[in-house]
Amino acid sequence: MLTLIKNGTLITAADTIPADVLIEDEKISLIGRDLKLPGAQVIDATGKYVLPGGIDVHTHLELYVKDTVSSDDFYTGHKAAAFGGTTTHIDFANQAKGESLHQAVDAWHKRAHGKACIDYGFHVTITDLTDDVLNEIPTLARDGVTTLKLLMAYKGAFQVDDTTLFKTLMKAAEHGMLVMVHAENGNAIDVLIKEAVAKKNLDPIYHARTRPFWAEAEATLRAIALAAIAGAPLYVVHMTCEASVDQLRYARARGLPVMGETCLQYLFFTEDDLARPNFEGAKYVCSPPMRTRRDNDALWHALANSDLQVVSTDHCPFFFDGTKTIEYEGRPVKIPGKELGRGDFTKIPNGVPGLGDRMIVLWSEGVGKGRISANRFVELTATNPAKIFGLYPRKGTIAAGSDADLVIWDPAMKKTLGVATSHHRTDYNLYEGWQMTGWPEKVFVRGHLLVDGDAWHGEPGGGSYLKRNHSQI
Ligand code: MN
Ligand code: MN
Repeated sequence: MLTLIKNGTLITAADTIPADVLIEDEKISLIGRDLKLPGAQVIDATGKYVLPGGIDVHTHLELYVKDTVSSDDFYTGHKAAAFGGTTTHIDFANQAKGESLHQAVDAWHKRAHGKACIDYGFHVTITDLTDDVLNEIPTLARDGVTTLKLLMAYKGAFQVDDTTLFKTLMKAAEHGMLVMVHAENGNAIDVLIKEAVAKKNLDPIYHARTRPFWAEAEATLRAIALAAIAGAPLYVVHMTCEASVDQLRYARARGLPVMGETCLQYLFFTEDDLARPNFEGAKYVCSPPMRTRRDNDALWHALANSDLQVVSTDHCPFFFDGTKTIEYEGRPVKIPGKELGRGDFTKIPNGVPGLGDRMIVLWSEGVGKGRISANRFVELTATNPAKIFGLYPRKGTIAAGSDADLVIWDPAMKKTLGVATSHHRTDYNLYEGWQMTGWPEKVFVRGHLLVDGDAWHGEPGGGSYLKRNHSQI
């Protein structure tokens, strides 16, 4: 099948060029001016941009946590992603204690099977590093898993000690794997949480107050230093504050292969949002927490000047009020959510929705307000994620031979964001009521038109698992 997108303006990380794009089955086969292909289905993109589909490298779909589960699965999450212009994501397959890494990856394959509509890959999260698990690391690449994640927080649950982190970094350096870290000092945080609970400081705001920015800055530098000693590249997930970005900049200025992402929410919200009355603060509870206006500004600056490389979401949605039923695709849904932590912030499920919001909000607030260029937008949302996570140039750019993951973007369209437009399976949206300028009009995944205006053509099972190469940065 031939589809010809005519008269649009192509935006890649490097270029902005008026050109036509020919899609042949699942690939881009030709790019040029005034292409004429008899028999091709023609889509007119006059006045529109053509962007590479977004890649969100940090999501948690159908993640089981204490007493509940993140409310988007591999169908609803993929639908929301596609409506937001994201065509690929990478989820975390978490190792349960005593389990092998392959067992973890298999468990996540089962969650995606028969549901996926967009393309997806997996990182594996190591929580229990036995000798067997250490020896398993070199075998993961065969299955397309080339990234390992470790958490330096959540004491007594996922937290690993420095020995585990360092051994993993050494092994990763030897086998070309990329290590990702959740960088917060879990030991200090654990003490602060226990102290807050003892003093009966149980409102959502104490989630932020027990996870101070220094805990993140310290862990960030510690991970960087251990990676430097091991000679391993490092990717720091969800960086929230100026102090952490300063550590990354220090390391990068010395030539170390360390990279960092921030997530959409950290660009806009602050600790004050966790202090909202009527338990509304719980909507903003995620880890690390929201920080300050100064940190929001520092993150925007770091995105503009390349101190940070990626914008992801850490999408891990929960209902605000999981005692009430909502409708999704006409069916009733009710999943326990943030209300589990009423009266005790330590029981609030950690996480916020964002997978479908990322491209729209970052475009409108970033490109629209002159904070980043359109090319930088593409680099942060698609090209860098593809290069860092071994998907380039199949994904993350517009080039002959690449997958036809394309978004026809209408820069003039104004619409209000919120639960009604986001397609997330949850009852609230952090950007509710925000008037956004610039929306995806048509979204293709490997040449298949999944989103056409308000119409949804995605098919459960249509998404493909991506075996990723080693990092290309
Ligand atoms: Mn995390
Ligand atoms: Mn996460």
